[in-house]
Amino acid sequence: MQAMHTARETTEKGWTRVDLFEYQARDLFAKHGVPVLAGEVIDTPEAARAVTERLGGKSVVKAQVKVGGRGKAGGVKLAATPDEAVARATDILGMDIKGHTVHKVMIAETAPEIAEEYYVSYLLDRTNRTFLAMASVQGGVEIEVVAEENPDALAKVPVNANEGVSIEKAREIVAQAKFPAEVAEQVAEIMVTLWDTFIKEDALLVEVNPLAKVADGRVIALDGKVSLDENAEFRQPDHEALEDKAAANPLEAAAKAKNLNYVKLDGEVGIIGNGAGLVMSTLDVVAYAGEKHSNVKPANFLDIGGGASAEVMANGLEIILGDPDVKSVFVNVFGGITACDEVANGIVQALELLKSKGEDVTKPLVVRLDGNNAELGRKILSDANHPLVQRVDTMDGAADKAAELAAAAAK
Ligand code: GDP
Ligand code: MN
Repeated sequence: MQAMHTARETTEKGWTRVDLFEYQARDLFAKHGVPVLAGEVIDTPEAARAVTERLGGKSVVKAQVKVGGRGKAGGVKLAATPDEAVARATDILGMDIKGHTVHKVMIAETAPEIAEEYYVSYLLDRTNRTFLAMASVQGGVEIEVVAEENPDALAKVPVNANEGVSIEKAREIVAQAKFPAEVAEQVAEIMVTLWDTFIKEDALLVEVNPLAKVADGRVIALDGKVSLDENAEFRQPDHEALEDKAAANPLEAAAKAKNLNYVKLDGEVGIIGNGAGLVMSTLDVVAYAGEKHSNVKPANFLDIGGGASAEVMANGLEIILGDPDVKSVFVNVFGGITACDEVANGIVQALELLKSKGEDVTKPLVVRLDGNNAELGRKILSDANHPLVQRVDTMDGAADKAAELAAAAAK
């Protein structure tokens, strides 16, 4: 129900939501029996022609971006002929809608004339620890506006997770929202199929806006929004394919491709450590040190794990140094199975590796080594005498130095 601006977002409770494109939501609706219009997604204007011909010669061209209000922004256009569909697709592809570039459009069957536009959704109501059905006969517009200006027009009905939505429960929702009698039963049936979509797909949100009553009396889902619960992926093998890898944070995508355990954060101090616990406490120590240095903060979480080989270190450094927000890097290693001398060699080799790949390494690195073979590791770093690398042997001292360097570079 909130505006959803990112493709993939970790919520405050730590669960991850995967927001789908409209065409993906439409596919899931169709799978569970929610009435939708046919359509195909394309990424070149010319492809609009064949699809429009298949749809009978006319179509609606719809920008596929994960943000509402596409219609108002000019991202939903009717095309009366295949040529016109190509022209509209040319207009819309590459368009910017509220900061989202349009890379794909859906060419959809045009609805018969729209008589009324409704709104329906299910979502997880965290505050009240329940599922919630929402429905309104004033759809088509942003539902936040309805909720604000005319709250009585938005019915909110709690749904017990164990009981779900039977046709009787659906009729109760429909009655509360005061749907007109001639569509009430159709809408109730849709509420049951939409509930199936919600539960069977492990969604956190399913929303239809508008749910349209068209000229011939049918009620059809014309636009949909679905957010899936990524934590349920273990029992939803099909869902991984729905994730928009390219649009998720590109650094996170690159890290994932290299099998690194990386999470982008908001700050300026890049962090590399071995072991999740050590990295977590490094984040705390850096955040604390940053309070004395222009409030700089950790720029990421990166755990390179036990085997910190030169290659893994190079991969990690490459990701972190590729983050334009990073002003300094703190490498915090506690030698264990992989001893500090191996890690130190890894760092030295990683910097050479990056240089040989043409990477322009200019950001200062602060390295703290402790644990197994710490002395030897420190010596290797000192001997290498790399102009960008500073050794600080305590965690607090190193965090302070990294924060100070980041603050200086950020000025
Ligand atoms: P949004 O603006 O991002 O929410 O995009 P929608 O898919 O909801 O489209 C916006 C508006 O365009 C809808 O409220 C409809 O009024 C209209 N619209 C969408 N699909 C069709 C269609 O197939 N035919 C017609 N005539 N209008 C449509
Ligand atoms: Mn809409």
